[in-house]
Order: sequence, then C-alpha cells, then structure tokens
Amino acid sequence: MIIHVAVPVPYLGLLTYRVPETLPRPVVGSRVVVPLGNRIVTGIVMDDVSSASIADEAVKPVKEVLDVDAFVPEDVVALAQWTAEYYAAGPGDTITAVLPPMARGGRQDAHKTVRVAAITAAGLEALTSQVAPRQLEALQLLAGTPTGITTPELTSRGVGADAIARLARRGFVSLRADRVDRDPFELAAARAVEVDPLRRLTPEQHSAFARLCAFVDARRFQVALLHGVTGSGKTEIYLRLAMRVRDGGRRTLMLVPEIALTPVVTSLFREAFGERVAIQHSGLSDGERHDQWQRIRRGDVDVVIGTRSAVFAPLGDIGAIVVDEEHDGSYKQEESPRYHGRDVAIVRGQRADALVVLGSATPSMESYQNAMSGRYERIVLERRVLDRPLAAVTVVDMREEYADRGPDVVVSRPLADALSARLDRKEQALILLNRRGFATAVFCRQCAGTMDCPNCSVSLVVHGEGPSRRARCHYCNYTMRVPAACPKCAGPYLEQAGFGTERVEAEVRRICPSARVARLDRDAIRRKGALTDILSRFRAGHVDVLVGTQMIAKGHDFPRVTLVGVISADVGLGLADFRASERTFQLLTQVAGRAGRGEEPGEAIVQTIYPGHYSIQLARDQNYRAFFEKEIAFRQAMRYPPQLSMINLIVRSRTFGGAMDDAGDLVQRLRSRAETAGLRILGPAPAPLGRLRGEYRTQVLIKGANRRKMREAVLESLASRPDLERRVVVDVDPISVL
Ligand code: ADP
Ligand code: ZN
Repeated sequence: MIIHVAVPVPYLGLLTYRVPETLPRPVVGSRVVVPLGNRIVTGIVMDDVSSASIADEAVKPVKEVLDVDAFVPEDVVALAQWTAEYYAAGPGDTITAVLPPMARGGRQDAHKTVRVAAITAAGLEALTSQVAPRQLEALQLLAGTPTGITTPELTSRGVGADAIARLARRGFVSLRADRVDRDPFELAAARAVEVDPLRRLTPEQHSAFARLCAFVDARRFQVALLHGVTGSGKTEIYLRLAMRVRDGGRRTLMLVPEIALTPVVTSLFREAFGERVAIQHSGLSDGERHDQWQRIRRGDVDVVIGTRSAVFAPLGDIGAIVVDEEHDGSYKQEESPRYHGRDVAIVRGQRADALVVLGSATPSMESYQNAMSGRYERIVLERRVLDRPLAAVTVVDMREEYADRGPDVVVSRPLADALSARLDRKEQALILLNRRGFATAVFCRQCAGTMDCPNCSVSLVVHGEGPSRRARCHYCNYTMRVPAACPKCAGPYLEQAGFGTERVEAEVRRICPSARVARLDRDAIRRKGALTDILSRFRAGHVDVLVGTQMIAKGHDFPRVTLVGVISADVGLGLADFRASERTFQLLTQVAGRAGRGEEPGEAIVQTIYPGHYSIQLARDQNYRAFFEKEIAFRQAMRYPPQLSMINLIVRSRTFGGAMDDAGDLVQRLRSRAETAGLRILGPAPAPLGRLRGEYRTQVLIKGANRRKMREAVLESLASRPDLERRVVVDVDPISVL
C-alpha cells in the first residue's frame, strides 16, 4: 500500500510512503509515524495511492500506523486540501492548522500535559556563537531556567511556538511533556449573563429566524447574509437556529472573530445545550484545546464555538455554520496558510449541504455584493430589539481642539464632559483607541533622531511611565529601556510623541479621579484569565470606564454602557490600503453599536481630524447602504476587490537590492503569462512595511478576474525559481496590502 502523507513541517509538500504488510492498513485521515531525513514525525494520510504504479521498494516504509480509523475526519482532510490549493500553501502548513496541538508532535498522550522547553548543551554553546537575535533572546531566557519553561509561559514572554520548534530542530532546545492538572474553562466568570431562552422574538427576529429555519430544514447548501444593525438580537437567532439544527439531528459550528467574545457566547449556548458545547481557540492551553478537539471528534457536542481555526473542527453532521461579524479582518490568517475563515466556512458548508449564516451590522463589500446579486440570501434586521434607538453619534473636529488647547489634547472637551456626566449618573463608558502603548514615538529635540526598531522599519512604542518605561517594537517584540539621553547625539531632550491606550487610561484617570478605570488590550491580557477577569468586572459594574483597542469594539453586549468615545477615528485612514475606508466605517459603526443597548439611550463621541471623510460621516449617520454605494464605486474605478481578485507577493531578502531584483525577476516571469491568464501585474515596489524582523521586503500585486489562472501563473513562475520558495509569501485574497 502506497500513501501520501502530510507532515506538520513548513514548506513540505505531500510525501510518499509505503505501508508494510506487517502493519495495520491506515485510511485517509489516519496518523502515521514516518521517517523524515534523520527525524521521526507524525503525519496524516491524505490519500491512498495504492493503485499507482510505484515500485514498493523505491519508497520508505512508514514506521507505525497510529489509527486504523480516521483521526482527522475525511471531509476535514479534503477541506485542508482545498485550503492548501486555493491559498497556494504547502500541505505541511495546512495540516498544522487542522491538527489539535498535541497530535502534531509524537504519540497521543492520554494524560493532561503541558509542553516544557529546556535548553540543551548545544543550546548553551550556541549562546556564544552566531544565532539570529530572536533565537538568542529565547536561548538567554531559557538559560536562566535550566529546568525549563512551559510553552504557554514562553508565548506570553514573546517566544512563539514556531521559534521554539525551530530551536528544537537545531538541537538547541529539548521539549518534554509534563503532567498538569488542566484548568477548567474560563467560564465561571462569564456566567453572569442572564439568558431567558423562552423570551419572545421580536417580529423582525421571528421572520428572519423562520427564513433561516426553512433553509436548515431543506438540508441544502445556502449562504444567508444576516444584515442586522448592532443590538438587533442576532445572537438570539443563532442560538435558536442551533437548537433547530440539533432537533433535526445535526450540529452547528459557530465562528466568532475574537477570543474575547467566546466566553460570553459560550455561556449563552451552555444555558441551552448544557455540556454539549465545545470551544476551540488559540487562547486555550494545548491540553485544553486537545481535550475539546477530542470531545468534538467523539461526537459529544452539538455546538462548537471558536475563532478562525475552528472552521477545521472535526465536527460531523454539520447542519449550520454561523460566521458572526463576518466582515471582521481577524478571520484572515496572516501566516501560511493565509486562509479566510469565512470563505473556508462557505466551502465547508457547501460540502456538508449546510446553511451558512454570515452575520454583521456592517457586511464586507464582498458579502454585500453577493447578497445584492442574489448569490446569497439577504435577511435584514433594521431595528434594535425593543425598539431601542441606535446611539446618537457626534463627530468632534480635533483640529479645532488643537487650535484652542494645543497639540497635546487626548480627550476633547465634549468627550470629557460626557464622561463626567456618565459617572455622575453611575453609567458606564467605553473609550476606544486602536493603538497600544503610552507614546508611539520617541525623538530627540537636539538632533531630531528617532528611536526605531533595529529589525523593522517602524518606530518603537513606549510602554509604561517614569523610570520603568520601555520601548517596544509591535512587530518583532524587540524591547529596550528608554535611555535618559539620545543614543545618537547624547542630547538630554528626549520627547515622546503620539499616544496609545496607556496614555488614554492615564488621561481618563486625571479627568475623573474618582472613576474606576480599566484597560483592555493585548498587553493587559497577557496573563491567563485576565481577559475574562476584566470583562466580567466591567459587566458586574466594578469598573466605570473601560479603555481599550478594537477588542472592546466587537460584539460585546454591555447593557449599562451609555457612552462610547473614539479617541482617533482616523488611525487607519491615512494608510495606503484599499480597505482603509471600509475598516474605518466598520469600526465606528461597531463601536457606536456598543452604546445604548440597555434601557438608557446611548451616545457616541468620535474624535477625528478628518470630520468630512465619507466613512466617518456615513458611520455617524449609520447609513450602511450609502457607504456601500460610495465605496463600491471607488473599488470599481480603481479595480480593487470585490471588482477583481488579487494576489499579493512579498519577497523577502537580506538586502534591499536582493529583494528588488528577485521581485523584478518574478515580474518578468509573470508577464510572460499575463496575457493568456488576463492578469495585471503591479510592481516590484518596496513593501509599505519595507523592513521586518531584519529582512527587506518588496511586493508584487497581481490583479485579475480568474483566481485559478492567477494562482497558476504564480505557481509556475515560482516553480521556475525554486530558490525563492521560502522567501516569497503568497497571499491570495489579501485583506490588507500593507
Ligand atoms: P447583536 O448581536 O445583533 O448586536 P444581541 O444578540 O447581542 O445583538 O442582542 C442585543 C440585546 O438584546 C442583548 O442584550 C439580548 O439579550 C437582547 N435581546 C435579544 N433578543 C431579544 C428579545 N427578543 N427580547 C428582548 N431582548 C432581546
Ligand atoms: Zn521590530
């Protein structure tokens, strides 16, 4: 028997092995242990090519067959194959995305364990030799703790699983599995939500629900766009739909864009489904994630709730897939395989004869166009439940504030007044700024030098205040202490410019000294449990003002919030990205949607230096339709998606010249195929983020009407330059070209 195997190793294609007669016969989806160079790895059988005329002796035998039944269900294997092909990614990367964390290493371990990395003798030697700065950092960290550090702990200190894997491969680090008592769900804290499964749907909810039920009952593939304003009760509809699906003997997959949204959604579903709910997201420990995966695989659950990667959950008999906040950019994975969770969900739904519900108050341009053209069913919820009004949105022109009060204004007077009024009335407020840290740049008043990341073409962001403050790169995590004097000219006049969430938090405390203020951003939730902790304290009313990044903008339902402030609505607008307006419109509409969801009406105050921009004006008017018309005209004129498809190629190199030359060479190769494939090729050009983690980056943009032809042209061009394979990033349907 000859089989094709995908092993979780980046860049590797499908491998061919033979199964000796003495071993049990695997099936598609079984795990097999195979030799790979001088290593032994566990892979997944992707297909059985026993009929192929390959001489058995010519291929290496598998060492062990771990399952005679599929470990990964066959339809998920097929979905992974589709994903690898569509996104031009290797099966190695794709199978990694599909497997539960602990199935990737060696044999399955029935115990609850955590992986621990420890430095080896070779690793200690490497400390004094030539290793990449990031690896060196990780090794130094490990050298300080010879007994080892757990992988979640390493991740929280900025050393990712891939970095550890790389060190392990070089023999610098050894990995072992230690037994732990697994943490239960982070659920207890979120349980304060009141759910009344028997409350009546509003007439609008009811007719939307009835239409969705008809699709579920028909057991045919259909995509429905549930376009419902914020607070229109979409979650309630998902919940009942899942119950309907269960009553028909099938199961529901529910995707949410943020880990932050899973606890509340999960507790809601648990009220209705009891134990028959599983969660899948990267915030769980490997062990938890693995347990949940096994429960799903065994068929112990009716509902799976998770972020992007849950689209590959081993759930059988799927009747409905819900993609909540379908417009959200976090559904797109920004590393290989660069898949879009929503789009893979649609493919999965199609193959399962399931209903796919795309829910949003601000649908993506793609989905709305598909709804307009009739490809998707469009279901509208125009009103908030109980006829609560949408928040009134006020736009504050920050240029006037700066003119009156100087350039350092963070919180405008209208926002400060509104905040104080809320606190007097014991109501809550959310303040959003889509930028972490305290200050966004440090510069010297004497020589005008700035503090930039040595590896990336961005400036370092200051975190903290006073003597303990540190400057950190948000791309590669490089950090340093902020010096007292300029490192370039020794001048003593270092100034901070720009600001992030930390500064806003400090400012809010200054304006309202008696307020209880908390912050929610990636820095604030590094500690496990911090996220649910902050959210549930806010929900319970122990926090008056929550300052945060877009994490607080999405989906949450806090009935006591009556004020939402947006510090700089234009953070994204200056960027040279074709989706900048769409993203700004979505963010403002979503964040305004967080206010006034309870009995008191809500208000949103949006600070901006571009008060006339259409994405800000139309978000103020909450006029999605007008925004869509305006934006689609722009996309058509500029030939951007959804008018055309795009593939973005990023070429990485140690020198700028090298990156430009290689990109130029690719352009030549693509051009010879451009005519027949109907492509437009733009570039080569320096990528907007021209340097990242020490490498130079250039880019080539390909536009066309036929994705398959575009992809073929790219793959053929790359095949003629195999040396470029590992240095070129292929991004099919990029959501950002920055
Ligand atoms: P969306 O997801 O559309 O923004 P939610 O599903 O979060 O809206 O619902 C908004 C609020 O309305 C929630 O507090 C929810 O519990 C409540 N709600 C939903 N449906 C009903 C209903 N039929 N009757 C009363 N309250 C409802
Ligand atoms: Zn950097």
